[in-house]
Amino acid sequence: MEQLGFEGMPRRLYSCTPTRLSTWLDCPRRYRMTYLDRPVPPKGPPWAHNSLGASVHNALAGWWRLPRSERDPGAAGRLLTSGWITEGYADQGQSDACLHWAREIVERYTAGLDPDAEPAGVERTVATRTEVIAFSGRIDRLDRRPAGPGASLATELAVVDYKTGRRPLTTDDARSSLALAMYALAAGRVLRQPCYRVELHQVTLGTVIGWTHTPESLQRHLSRAEDIAQECAAADQSYRAGPDGLDRVFPPQTGPACGWCDFRAHCPEGQAAADQRRPWDGLADEFTRPDPARPAPPLPAPPVPGPPVPGPSVPAPARPDDAADAPPAGS
Ligand code: SF4
Repeated sequence: MEQLGFEGMPRRLYSCTPTRLSTWLDCPRRYRMTYLDRPVPPKGPPWAHNSLGASVHNALAGWWRLPRSERDPGAAGRLLTSGWITEGYADQGQSDACLHWAREIVERYTAGLDPDAEPAGVERTVATRTEVIAFSGRIDRLDRRPAGPGASLATELAVVDYKTGRRPLTTDDARSSLALAMYALAAGRVLRQPCYRVELHQVTLGTVIGWTHTPESLQRHLSRAEDIAQECAAADQSYRAGPDGLDRVFPPQTGPACGWCDFRAHCPEGQAAADQRRPWDGLADEFTRPDPARPAPPLPAPPVPGPPVPGPSVPAPARPDDAADAPPAGS
C-alpha cells in the first residue's frame, strides 16, 4: 500500500466502489482507461442490455417513491414506459418488443411485493472506511425486516440487488459477491443495525437468490477488498510516476469479454482476442432474431422470496456477472 507523508501522518485512503475494484480484477488496462487516463478515451456505442437494465432499475426505484396508494403493478409498467431508454437497440421494433416484455416483467415482479413494506432505502448510497479504504456504493434497495429468533433488535436489514440478465443465478453468486458483502457491511455501519442478508432479485426470471452472511464472512470480504485496493493504489502510484512500463502495470486481460469492452477500439490485444459485439447482442435471443414480430418469451411466475440460508462463507474472486461470455453490465 502506498504510504504517503511522514511517519505519524494519516495514511491516504484508497477511495473505491465495487465497480472500481472489479474492473481492476477483470482487466487492469480497462481500469487504467476508465479511472486514470484523462481525458477518458472515447467509448463505444451504448449497449441495449444496459439500457434495458437501467430502465427496469429506474422503474422499480420510482415505484417505491410513489405514495403507498399508487403502488400497484400497473404503475410499475407505466413508470417503465415513460422512462424507457432507447439507446443501443437495433431499431424501433426491437426496442418496442423489449419494452413490451420488460413492462410485463416489472408488473409481475411488483405484483409479488408488499407495497406496505417500506424499504429502509431505495438507491441508497452507503459509505464506510477502514484504515485502508474509503468505500462507497449505491444499493438498489435496502429492506428492513423482522429479525430472526435470538436477535438483539426487532428488525434487521437486507440488501436487495436487482438483476435483469437471463443467466440463472445461484446461491454462490450471492455468497461470493464482494459488492453485496461490502454493501451489507456499509449499510450496517451507516444505519447502526445488523445487516447480514444479501439477495439477488432476478427480475427477468422471477427468482430471489439469497445468502446470509456472518460477521466473519463479511470480514473476509472486507479483507479481500482491502487487498485489491492495495494493488490498485500501488498501480495508481505507478501511473502518476510517469508513462514508463504502463503495459506492465496495467496489462490487457484478454478474453471473450473483450467483445463487450467499451474501450476495445483502443486495445489491439482485445481486438485480436474477440469479435466486436453489436450493441444489441446482449439482449435475449428472442429479441435479436431478424423478425421483430416474433412472439414474446414466456413470463415467469411472481417471485417468492426464499427463507434465509444461514451458513459460513468464504470470499471468492468472481462476481455475479463474470460469466465467461456474459455482457459486462446491465444485468
Ligand atoms: S479490450 Fe479486453 S484487454 Fe482490452 S481493455 Fe478491454 S477488456 Fe481489457
